[in-house]
Amino acid sequence: MKVGFIGLGHMGAPMSRNVLAAGHDLVVHDVRPDAAAGLLEAGASWAGSPREAGADRDAVITMLPGPSQVEEVLLGPGGLLAGLPVGATWIDMSTSIPAVADKVRALAGGRITVLDAPVAGGITGARDGMLQIFVGGATEDYLRMRPLLEVVGDAERIMHVGGRGAGYTVKLMLNLLWFASVTLTAEALTIGVRAGVDVATLRRSLLTSAAASHFLEHDVLSVLERGDFDDSFALALACKDLGLAVDLARQTGVPAEMSALVEQIYRRARAQYGDQGGQLLPMKLLEDLTATPLRLPEPQE
Ligand code: NAD
Repeated sequence: MKVGFIGLGHMGAPMSRNVLAAGHDLVVHDVRPDAAAGLLEAGASWAGSPREAGADRDAVITMLPGPSQVEEVLLGPGGLLAGLPVGATWIDMSTSIPAVADKVRALAGGRITVLDAPVAGGITGARDGMLQIFVGGATEDYLRMRPLLEVVGDAERIMHVGGRGAGYTVKLMLNLLWFASVTLTAEALTIGVRAGVDVATLRRSLLTSAAASHFLEHDVLSVLERGDFDDSFALALACKDLGLAVDLARQTGVPAEMSALVEQIYRRARAQYGDQGGQLLPMKLLEDLTATPLRLPEPQE
């Protein structure tokens, strides 16, 4: 298949590498031409604009920070929509919202098909071609594009979750719950440790209880074992996702007090540690405020 890929960052670079490795004819683009260096050596071609990246392609994937970049890439000067041939498919795998895709659909007037297909699994999932993918759009378009999605995703966890925009919604709710777990786990562990329980015992006890969570079992270990706050996903992106989740709550008339609070905690961490700081830094906020580092003892030799 002739595929285009736009957005070669933490996620897009390894994902596009897998598209190439699967034997597709690949054209890539990014505002940072350096981001394509390794891919060009591996056999991809460079497009000087999104429009060029779309010319003669069967499908183009975008993996961009959020709605404003997606709109610029699709509809801005030298935009992708103007370059795509009739019958092509645009798959947006960014964590975004339906508004931009709706605008593109309206302007395209049926000339192209559109799927939203945001992902979970981080850079490890991207590198291993094992991402979870939530697809929104028409069933026939999903089925037609599934073989391409299987190149970047885990076949068992590529899910058609509904019509246009449903993929974006599922992904935003996933991140909302996950970021809420980060902030609340930080509070529970800090309170427990300051009350005199050691962090390993506290975690082990919680893990065998009804309060266990995926975060407490897996991801929290990068902080507890290594003091690593995971800068493979930037606070700027986390704040974008939480803002979009809270916007969705407003649009759907749902009072979302907890979500708004989690967003504010993340915005505080971003102000404190910067846009590129890691997604687990809200835990450090609390460590710093209470002078209570959450670390497991070094394993004994
Ligand atoms: P990133 O910032 O590392 O990469 C984004 C890429 O888009 C960069 O290479 C940037 O130069 C490029 N870009 C920005 N504006 C552009 C434009 N106008 N034209 C062309 N290229 C442009 O971000 P990322 O971590 O790869 O995340 C990408 C998307 O995936 C985001 O929506 C994010 O929320 C989502 N996501 C990220 C992770 C993760 O672990 N990093 C996991 C799941 C989902």
